[in-house]
Amino acid sequence: MDKNSLNMNVLIAEDDIISCRALEKNLQDWGYEALVTKNGEEAWEIIRNGGIRLAILDWSMPKMNGLELCHKIRNEYQPKEEKYIYIILLTGRDLEEDIITGLSAGADDYITKPFSYMELKVRIQNGERIIALQDLQLQKANTDSLTQLWNRKKILELLEEELNRNFRENKPVGVIMLDIDNFKTINDTYGHLIGDKIIIEVASRLQKQMRTYDKIGRYGGDELLLVLPGLSRQDAKNIAERLRKSVCAEKIQTDAGALDTTVSLGVSIFDKASRPSTQKIIEKIIEESDHALYMAKGRGRNITVVSEPDSAIEKDTK
Ligand code: GH3
Ligand code: MG
Repeated sequence: MDKNSLNMNVLIAEDDIISCRALEKNLQDWGYEALVTKNGEEAWEIIRNGGIRLAILDWSMPKMNGLELCHKIRNEYQPKEEKYIYIILLTGRDLEEDIITGLSAGADDYITKPFSYMELKVRIQNGERIIALQDLQLQKANTDSLTQLWNRKKILELLEEELNRNFRENKPVGVIMLDIDNFKTINDTYGHLIGDKIIIEVASRLQKQMRTYDKIGRYGGDELLLVLPGLSRQDAKNIAERLRKSVCAEKIQTDAGALDTTVSLGVSIFDKASRPSTQKIIEKIIEESDHALYMAKGRGRNITVVSEPDSAIEKDTK
């Protein structure tokens, strides 16, 4: 079996049973995970559930045809979802105007039946190349180049996603603002390159402590933002303290010697009840975590402050 590089989920929407089986069998032989459906509506449901990167759509299908599905993917799904779906339209129509209509509807490629499976295979591989390129661009656009953590824009998007998901499921979300202590002194004493090395190592030590569904990003300078879905108020202090200690437990080895490094943490916990009721939810949440961090700095640094419900920031009742 060939192994495709992306381990990609491919959707096949084709109402003819024999063609559908042949497509599925070939795709599996080429190493793709194939999801099969015989009508456009079901295909749309699968697309909406996420995870599909390449779709092979038959033009004529019951309920919703391939052309309508193309339109829906491009106009309804794609604007909300940053990962691109590469669409290959499959059809018996081979008139020039059909090809123009198909490609105008949002298909990336077009194959007319009967077709050779070798041709389909290389067309899928072309699609994979585009998808890989887009993934790389997306990763660059979302990653902080120094630490390889999420950048500010992306971690704020993830925070919003996690708040929505967890509030729906009635679970709390922990938000931690973490800042390196006296970092200016490190820069001033040892230079920016050593400072950079310290930020990188702090990020790496924290990452090792985090669960797979926790998120961490560089908020700016020496400040990191952590999003911990499901973190309860009871556990907040312990978990945050574990993170803090993971940074200061051992000196950081640099070209200027082994340096002691500490961090301060401001923690806030949000659930449905404590959700700020304003339009500016993210701003309020950051403000609250920032306020707790400010208190941690004020109390001498290298500590964790968990903000009390409703204490730090006045909740907007609008
Ligand atoms: P505090 O304990 O109150 O946080 O004091 P601090 O000295 O750490 O003060 P602050 O957090 O305001 O300092 C952040 C410094 O981080 C200021 C800025 O020059 C430096 N900085 C920001 N980005 C980078 C970077 O990418 N590399 C390095 N080396 N330094 C940076
Ligand atoms: Mg600092």
